[in-house]
Parts: sequence; C-alpha cells; structure tokens
Amino acid sequence: MSDCIFCKIAGGEIPAATLYEDQDFRVILDLGPASRGHALILPKEHYANLYEMPEELLGKAASLAKRMGEAMKKALKCDGLNLVQNNGAAAGQTVFHFHIHLIPRYDNDKVGLGWKPGTLTDQDRDELVRLVSSEL
Ligand code: AMP
Ligand code: ZN
Repeated sequence: MSDCIFCKIAGGEIPAATLYEDQDFRVILDLGPASRGHALILPKEHYANLYEMPEELLGKAASLAKRMGEAMKKALKCDGLNLVQNNGAAAGQTVFHFHIHLIPRYDNDKVGLGWKPGTLTDQDRDELVRLVSSEL
C-alpha cells in the first residue's frame, strides 16, 4: 500500500520511535499517547483490519503483545495495561492498517476508555446467541 502511513513506518521509510522490531512487526510509540508509554504493534505487511489478518500472524501479534506488555510493566512500573484494537471508523479506527494499541495504565490516570453499561434483555440475549453462533 503505497499511500499507507503505517506501511511506511513499519517498513522504515518514515522514522518512528521503535521499541521493538522483527521480520513481521515493528512496535512504535504512539504520537498522540493516551498515557505514558502508549505503543502500537504494526505488522510489516499491510492488512486493513482484524478481518484481513492471517490467523498465524494474528497469533504472533498476540504473543508479541504479551511480551511487550511484560516489558512495559517492568520498565514503566505501570499498574495496568489495556490492549485496544479498533476495526472500522464506527469503532474509532483512523489508520486503516491493522494495529494493536498497548496502553499502560496508572492508578487514577483518568484515561477514558470506558462506556456506559446498557441492559441485556432476555429477548435480545436469545436473539444474539442465535444470530452470532449460527455464523461460526
Ligand atoms: P486508531 O484510531 O486505532 O486507528 O489509532 C491510530 C493511532 O495512530 C492513534 O492513536 C494515533 O495517535 C496514531 N498515529 C497516527 N499517526 C501516527 C504516526 N505517524 N506515528 C505514531 N502514531 C501515529
Ligand atoms: Zn499499510
């Protein structure tokens, strides 16, 4: 993808603060961090979102998220960690190259990733279970 900013960063064409790199991924600091140490796992190959990611690469991304999370916990002494992965504009995705956010959390940091809990009705529960499970 010639006009994809994350392809250019992952491929080293545009410089970024790199925490880790291997043949499949580059992990960089987010330029607009939600918290101190906010990082992004970028695959070097272009996949727009979760749906396009090959399962094997996704597995490697999950393992890397664990390894990065452990390193960040030690290095940054954070109290918690959110993994965030947005798919589609409706979900807040702004860069359409798959990435996983690693967001270190600190006690009382006021980072707003929450939502207002709704209510799961019995009817909706039954319909949702039927609808989703029938597609698997
Ligand atoms: P998302 O909303 O999930 O697509 O996240 C995109 C993230 O990429 C945001 O947190 C941005 O701050 C971050 N971002 C965008 N451009 C750059 C860049 N050139 N270098 C580092 N992070 C970036
Ligand atoms: Zn890309």
